[in-house]
Amino acid sequence: MFIGKLMKTALLLAALVVSKCACSQEKPILFQHVRVFDGTQVVPEEDVLIEGGRIKDAGPSLAVGNAKVIDGTGKTLLPGLIDAHVHVHSKETLEHALIFGVTTELDMMMQPRREHELKSEENDHMASFYSAGLPATVPGGHGTEYGFDIPTITRASDAQSFVDARLREGSDYIKIMYTAGVSLGRRAERPTLSKQTMAAVIAAAHERHRLAVVHIGSVEGARDAIEAGADGLAHIFNGPSSPKNFGEFVASHHAFVIPTLSVKYSVCGPRSAGERLLADPNLKPYLSGENISRLKETFPSANSGLISCKGSMQAIGQLQAAGVPIVAGTDAPNPGTTYGASLHGELELYVESGLTPIQALIAATSAPASVFHISDRGRIAPGLRADLLLVNGRPDEDILATRNIVAVYKQGHEVDRRGWRH
Ligand SMILES: [Zn+2]
Repeated sequence: MFIGKLMKTALLLAALVVSKCACSQEKPILFQHVRVFDGTQVVPEEDVLIEGGRIKDAGPSLAVGNAKVIDGTGKTLLPGLIDAHVHVHSKETLEHALIFGVTTELDMMMQPRREHELKSEENDHMASFYSAGLPATVPGGHGTEYGFDIPTITRASDAQSFVDARLREGSDYIKIMYTAGVSLGRRAERPTLSKQTMAAVIAAAHERHRLAVVHIGSVEGARDAIEAGADGLAHIFNGPSSPKNFGEFVASHHAFVIPTLSVKYSVCGPRSAGERLLADPNLKPYLSGENISRLKETFPSANSGLISCKGSMQAIGQLQAAGVPIVAGTDAPNPGTTYGASLHGELELYVESGLTPIQALIAATSAPASVFHISDRGRIAPGLRADLLLVNGRPDEDILATRNIVAVYKQGHEVDRRGWRH
């Protein structure tokens, strides 16, 4: 299975739509004397030159040439952030992500027609995105409740044709809905794929050199998905505690985890994770009335006091200790979350779960780029896309500094944030 993962590298990129950018006409930019988080570590002070939408050079005392100089004293330059679990709905949602420094989004379920429209419309004012398209689920299963018809699968023998149909529709990777072990209280449990069919869908995705990412909602579901060969989990479970060996178990299968604590908090309650973001003077002015109400929302379970997120946070500490890649994702726009802003909250929750600020920053930059094989971003290095976030302060020491945004660059183009201030 590990060899299978290595083989996938080039293939996700094959699906990449080359986005339009005005980067060839842009003047080069030289960030001078700036602290750099390069995606894996911190360089206390260097210069970074960007030109033609790419990072041209990084090092001490670079020549200015005809570049526009930006004094980086007291500031930190980071790779544009990546939110690895969202649902992309419109151009506005991608614009919104971008003004908060989220330059790439990984969609985990959307309609293929929308995906095509939005990928063809991509420009410098929108975050770029990859998409799972439609997920694998059974009739009446999770994913079928959103008011539009989606194809379903019940037999393992249909897995390859199901996956091939998704890839023809434009899916960059395969999302699987698996809700075994999830209690809905008094209501009957939702039907879900059998473990055998899930394993067949994962194998079918691997047959085409694509990743398979599984939605889970319980410890049992997480174990089943990992045993079935999932490349990653699209959520972590909730509950009062996490099984002791969970980190080692996931590590031994070489899988990654996208915890989505932002949405988990809306399930556990009593308040959403989004509520906390509203008190932040660096975020609030850029949130619309609609986003503000969204951030305050929770799921009905939040008031019951019966569901705990302690186990979710504990699991994150275990995964990090075992060397499992933690990949930041929010599940925006679910209750309690919104595009862009919530990723900053997600990183704060990782630090509260025991990660260092640098480990949290890795989860939103080089880790997603690496596990999803998107090799042109997620780090600051010559040749990579100039998707960048410039902030005041040192986010590698205080994670809240990611919100103190000075500027956001998409392929070298500075995003106009002023128009979004309310
Ligand atoms: Zn989701």
